[in-house]
Amino acid sequence: MTIEQPPPNINETEEESRAKNVEITKKAVEALRAKGINNNCQSCGKSNWNIYSFKIVATYASQAYFPAKQPLNLPVLNLTCLECGWMSLYSLKVLGVEV
Ligand SMILES: [Zn+2]
Repeated sequence: MTIEQPPPNINETEEESRAKNVEITKKAVEALRAKGINNNCQSCGKSNWNIYSFKIVATYASQAYFPAKQPLNLPVLNLTCLECGWMSLYSLKVLGVEV
């Protein structure tokens, strides 16, 4: 969990950012496979996924306002089942994927 993030690379184009995200997502999926994660949806049992990597902006539960002055930025791998809508989130940090 990281509170302070380095400044974004303002010279990076949108296309470069997307390509970088694809690379992060591939590494995260490889890490999941290496851990032997079950490929089937926990809700419907099928295996038809939409897969993205992104950051979730969150606030500590104790904070009264959202977004907080210093929100949490949690990088995750998201799997969304295209059959039933079940969503899974995996911490990229725990998977060992640098963002
Ligand atoms: Zn499902």
